[in-house]
Amino acid sequence: MRPTKPDIDAATAEAWAKDAYGIQAQATPLPGEVDRNFYLCGAGNHRYVFKISPIGVLPEIEGQIAVLTHLETTDVRDITPRIVRGIHGEELVEVESSTGDRFLTRITEFFEGVELAQCSADTTNLWHQLGTALGRLDVALQTFDHPSTRRHSVWDLARVLELEPLLDAVAPEHRPFVKTGLDRFRERVLPHLDQLRRSVIHNDANDYNVLVHESGPNDAELAGIIDFGDMLHTITVAELAIACAYSMLDRSDPWLVASRLTEGYEIQNALTPVERGLLPDLIVGRLCNSLLMSAQARLASPDDEYLTISERPAAALLKRLIMNPHPRSTDDILAIRHRHLGRNLSVSYREPLKIVRGEGACLFDHQGNRFLDLVNNVCHVGHCHPRVVEAGQRQMEMLNTNSRYLHDALTEYVVRLTAAMPDRLSVCFLVCTGTEANDLALRLARAHSRRREILVLDHAYHGHSPSLVEISAYKCEGPGGEGLAEHANKLPCPDVYRGKYRGPDAGTDYVAEVQSAIERLRSSGRTPGAFMAESLLGCGGQIILPNGFLGGAHAAMREAGGVCIADEVQVGFGRVGTHMWAFESMGGTPDIVTMGKPIGNGHPLAAVVTTPEIAASFDTGMEYFNTFGGNPVSCAIGLAVLDVIETEDLQSHALAMGERMKRGLDELTDRHELIGDVRGQGLFLGVELVSDRESRHPAGHEADETVEHMKTLGFLLSTDGPDHNVIKIKPPLVLTAEDVDATIQAFDESLSLVGGER
Ligand code: PMP
Repeated sequence: MRPTKPDIDAATAEAWAKDAYGIQAQATPLPGEVDRNFYLCGAGNHRYVFKISPIGVLPEIEGQIAVLTHLETTDVRDITPRIVRGIHGEELVEVESSTGDRFLTRITEFFEGVELAQCSADTTNLWHQLGTALGRLDVALQTFDHPSTRRHSVWDLARVLELEPLLDAVAPEHRPFVKTGLDRFRERVLPHLDQLRRSVIHNDANDYNVLVHESGPNDAELAGIIDFGDMLHTITVAELAIACAYSMLDRSDPWLVASRLTEGYEIQNALTPVERGLLPDLIVGRLCNSLLMSAQARLASPDDEYLTISERPAAALLKRLIMNPHPRSTDDILAIRHRHLGRNLSVSYREPLKIVRGEGACLFDHQGNRFLDLVNNVCHVGHCHPRVVEAGQRQMEMLNTNSRYLHDALTEYVVRLTAAMPDRLSVCFLVCTGTEANDLALRLARAHSRRREILVLDHAYHGHSPSLVEISAYKCEGPGGEGLAEHANKLPCPDVYRGKYRGPDAGTDYVAEVQSAIERLRSSGRTPGAFMAESLLGCGGQIILPNGFLGGAHAAMREAGGVCIADEVQVGFGRVGTHMWAFESMGGTPDIVTMGKPIGNGHPLAAVVTTPEIAASFDTGMEYFNTFGGNPVSCAIGLAVLDVIETEDLQSHALAMGERMKRGLDELTDRHELIGDVRGQGLFLGVELVSDRESRHPAGHEADETVEHMKTLGFLLSTDGPDHNVIKIKPPLVLTAEDVDATIQAFDESLSLVGGER
């Protein structure tokens, strides 16, 4: 049984303050669970907190006095309550009421400031400060001990499993989450409990125990940490876990709050790897602790609605943390990737990014930093476009099967997709990746032409399956490659900046190469069955094909009886601005078009569209079935993407933004010697860096440095091309004019830094 709270009025408190402490002040009641508390306002606006406690809690009060006395000697004295001593120098003064009851009294100086819970300013910057303050406090407490801190407490996070019998009293809707939380504690924390550091901690850094100064609507500063009533000798890391659990309540990005708090804490008191690893489970443990204690309180007062209201944020957070696996540190993630993912999967940037959210053309990392995504041509209509998300969610809730059932989304989709193509391309195959689309395109071409020989462009990339790696010079002629397949015939890359032909007739010259390759093969009895090319080369270095090339190449191939495949995996769906498909802007007339990346705005959807004749040749008797291709969810998403491109007029927007970007880049060319070439169509652009404009010597290192510096300014880019010196710009099409201008400005700064101004 807790002792009852003393029944003392303000006048008595004032009298005791004066007699025992020599403080003449006006007393106003303050809340308190066991103590009777008053706020004292004395002469010269000196303010104090006056606590009157029942005699029965003496050991705990002695503990609190002892801790404050100890902290006065440490460097946290500015953020912890300062004791005001009685007229005889005592920290604790015993008093007697008119009815003869005896009580313990103590006074501390009042902190100027408001409770964090009541603070109306933006408290974002406070999490780091709070973490630092708690880190300092815990370091100061390492040299403190007191018998009262060794007591058994229901708020001892290390012993949360002892509360498990209360699980049945938890509201049924929250119970499974509390159970999971406790199970995790048992499995993950319990085996390591004796490896965790132990010391005295405050043990209750909730937002009523943290005081702040509000200096403006967006500015608040930590003033102090009060109320050592729950102080306990336990696992040290519980301090941080408890502070995190409270600070994360009702936050849109709770892990961001936790990471700021942790960063601040670790400046003063570095966690051990085990502590760091267990922190998420300890935060969950504290939420379980709270919910179990409020379940116990409900047993005592079943009709108390306040209990239900107050446990709601904790239950919501617990559910969220249980459903979303806790984030790991970058080092941990890299170590796990190293162990459990194929090592030939590289990570972007020297300091890898952990991206947790996307919106429009922006990405956000786990610390809330915003980046303009200038390189993701997959999230074509903007990251997480609400219309696409909703279409996918709605269909996922309703049904997801395969294309062997009749489904309106599939039929609607193939009608819409083929309607966006030239009339002769009217038969669709829905698959899941660009690689699958190109692989199928090869099969279609072979089935129709009955030949394996294929013409491909130097530096091209068409996919990662064996059939495509062996015809993609970008891969098979690079590190680890085994060279081109025998049936793959490489044509020079139609690059007018660095390629074999650069003049005004380059288009014709490169077509002549196609013709002579066909002739060469013919003369050895190996007529080619297909010509395959990206309509603009991505991995090859953002190459814009010269005028007349694609149309001429297609005509030459068709004349030789072969099939023309246009790989639109990177560049389709309006990116080039003038047309829906890049082959159209390039004057190509393909027989097979492959699509991927942007088609599903990030959802794995891809497609092959061809003529009825080629589709008929492929209908050999062997069925073509693709388990996931064309499923209702993919089709609903594909339809939403087409809708958004149309309703938001993204194709013409890409044209306008692309021209604006190109203009800006052209202007930079005047100032930055590093820029050798600026090229592009719509929002598919490349900036080729050279160390010398005359020799066009590729500046790969400078390109990397520029990309890294752009990242520090909040702009995400990457490099490509055989010399890795071409900076690729291929953002979501929703990029705004302000985004473009900001990009140019950042480029200007980065190029100045990397290359020096002219
Ligand atoms: N073709 C081109 C032109 C590509 O750029 C890519 C991917 N970079 C692919 C095909 C392969 O697509 P996926 O990665 O979806 O298999």
